[in-house]
This record gives sequence, C-alpha cells and structure tokens, in this order.
Amino acid sequence: MTDEDKKSGSNVAPLRAPRPCPECARPSHREHYPFCSDRCRNVDLNRWLSGSYAIPVADDESKADDDDR
Ligand SMILES: [Zn+2]
Repeated sequence: MTDEDKKSGSNVAPLRAPRPCPECARPSHREHYPFCSDRCRNVDLNRWLSGSYAIPVADDESKADDDDR
C-alpha cells in the first residue's frame, strides 16, 4: 500500500453526506451551502421574501375539547 492509496481514500465515507441543493437538487457547493450556487441561494431568498414560504397555520380547533373541565 502506498501513501497515495491512503490519500485517495475512496473507501472512506465522508463525514457529512453532501446535501442536494434545495432549489435544483444538484450537489451543494461548500461556498454556497446548502445551495449549489449563489443563484440558487438568491432564488431561495427571494422566495422567502415574497412570502410563498408562509408557514401554514394549523387549524387545531378539533383539539380544543373541553377535557380540562
Ligand atoms: Zn442549485
């Protein structure tokens, strides 16, 4: 076994599994983590700003029983 074999480390699992970009599902780039590029980061940011990520309000009225009476 040579040093090169150790360095290549193809049989060693990476510490962190690479995550796909939330926008286009390509492998994320370390510099733009968790996105693959600055463009996808901006797309995601714009989506947040435009409000389409609005958190749905759970309609929990069915839970509002009078159990504690
Ligand atoms: Zn992307």
